[in-house]
This record gives sequence, C-alpha cells and structure tokens, in this order.
Amino acid sequence: MKISEIFKAKTPVSFEIFPPKGDLSVETLRDTLSSLKMLNPDFISVTYSAGGTGNSEKTVELASVVKNEFGIESMAHLTCINSDRNGVREVVSRIKGQGIENILALRGDIIEGNKPTDFNYAADLIEQLRNEPVCVGAACYPEGHVTCESVEKDIEYLKAKQDKGASFFVSQLFFENRVFYDFLEKTKKAGVTVPITAGIMPMLSKSQVSRMIFMCGASLPSEIIRILNKYENDEISLKKAGIEYASNQAADLIKNGVDGIHLYTMNKPEIASGIMERIR
Ligand code: FAD
Repeated sequence: MKISEIFKAKTPVSFEIFPPKGDLSVETLRDTLSSLKMLNPDFISVTYSAGGTGNSEKTVELASVVKNEFGIESMAHLTCINSDRNGVREVVSRIKGQGIENILALRGDIIEGNKPTDFNYAADLIEQLRNEPVCVGAACYPEGHVTCESVEKDIEYLKAKQDKGASFFVSQLFFENRVFYDFLEKTKKAGVTVPITAGIMPMLSKSQVSRMIFMCGASLPSEIIRILNKYENDEISLKKAGIEYASNQAADLIKNGVDGIHLYTMNKPEIASGIMERIR
C-alpha cells in the first residue's frame, strides 16, 4: 500500500529501523521485527547508507522482509549523492521487484571525497522517480537543515520537493514541540500541503544526544539538559526518562492534530513499546 493512502485514512505511527552493520545478516533482526510487529506500526522505514558502512545492499532486503514476511507496510530510504542515474534505476528496480511501494528520497550527506554525480539535491532524485509506480516521501527539518542558510530558504526547497512529486515528508528529530508547530505554520504559508510526519527520537545517553545535535543541529531545551545531567551516570534511569520525555512529546503532538508520528527506534523495540503504550 502506498503511504500517501495511509495518511488519507488515519494518523499513522511509523517506525524507522536500520539494517545490521558489517557482515551481520538481516536474519539477526528477526526478533527485533517480531517485537516491533506486536506494536502494530502503520509502516516501517529502513535507512540506506551509501557512505561505506556496507549496508546499502541490505536496505532493500530488510524492507522486503518487513513487507513480505512480517506483513508490515515498508519504505526503503534511498540516497543519491553517491549515485548516477543508472545506479538509481538499478536500486529502484530491486525495490519494485520486491513489491515495495514506498521510497524516502534523500540526497545523503556530503562528505569530503564525494564525487560529483547526476544528482545535486533530493529534488533531482524525486524528479527521476516521478514516472515510477512508487509513492515518494522526502525529509524535512523543523529547525532547518544543518547546512541551510535559513529555515525560510530550506522551506522554499521543501516546497520544490513537493512540486517535483514528494507526497509526504518525514521530519528530522526535534526536542521541542513548539519548534515543530512554528515550522508547520511556515510550511503552510509557503504552500506545502502534503502530510508532514513528526520524527521523534528518545534520548538514551549523553553521548547519543551530543552526536545527534552535532549531526543535525537540533536545539536542546533546558528540560533535556537537566535530565541528561541528573542521570549522567545512571543509564537505566536516563533511558526511562528519555522514553517518558518522548512519550509526552508524541502525546502532545497527537493532541494537537499532527499528520503522523515517526519513531526513530534505533532497532530497540523496548523504546518503541514504551512510547506506543502511552500514545495508543
Ligand atoms: P536536500 O533536500 O537536497 O537538502 C540538502 C541541503 O541542500 C539543504 O541544506 C537544503 O536547504 C539545500 N538545498 C536543497 N535544494 C537546493 C537548491 N536547489 N539550491 C541550493 N540549496 C538547496 N541519510 C542517509 O544517508 N541515509 C538515510 O537513510 C537517511 N534517512 C533520513 C531520514 C530522515 C527522516 C531525515 C530527516 C534525514 C535522513 N538522512 C539519511 C540524512 C540526509 O541524507 C541528510 O540530512 C542530507 O544532508 C540531506 O538530505 P535531504 O534529502 O534533506 O537533501
């Protein structure tokens, strides 16, 4: 089923997972998937890495297992910054071959040594996917992409992704709902009309949070800083507080009529389960 159809019917709660790293096979995620299935997500998305961690091949395989063996709607992420048009055609053909109907079209991070390819931005990839029989989503950034000159300019580019064919957006993580509500206002004013689902990532440790904010530039409210300091040396309490914070965030978003919730599960079903208990 196309995810755009799911958005028409309900407020989906979806999960994000990543393929196993290194030589580990997709089989190692079977127990994780069984536990996630019990939480009844509306779809599961599978990340893609073209950056050399060696799991890009496994994205399609895992998205296929999610859909064809576990019976959960799936979405394969696809980045374009390291690919040419033929490379993208080849991956898309594998995606379609597995009956996967949804693709999250991304540029991917620019890292030193990236060679120029046929794609500069996600919008170029979305354009290439236009004639494919798949539903295409794309990424959005409530506080602006970390390299953008302003949130307003970033939203202009977001609108361009919609115009090229993106039929929904999944947001980067954020810790303050007010930031997301302000962003939604701005996107509406800019003419973005497709659903925007809110990306929620519970904090698990100080190092995870600092890595995330460094990578994506999300701002930290004082409540998060207080929790991180309070439980700095108490992993279990920090995880509990992180799940509680994320659950409150998700509950407030739903109360305020968001289009959907996308949980970054980090392949940890207990995290998703704690949040689902609260919001369903
Ligand atoms: P774009 O939409 O192309 O934007 C990239 C930058 O270019 C932004 O600063 C934007 O403002 C700017 N820009 C856009 N168009 C123009 C233009 N015409 N002229 C000038 N500037 C422009 N990465 C992975 O490697 N694998 C994944 O699986 C993955 N999944 C993700 C899932 C979500 C929900 C999110 C939010 C991010 C994900 N990423 C993933 C990270 C993503 O690849 C990076 O954030 C990347 O740097 C930007 O990708 P994008 O698709 O948003 O790019």
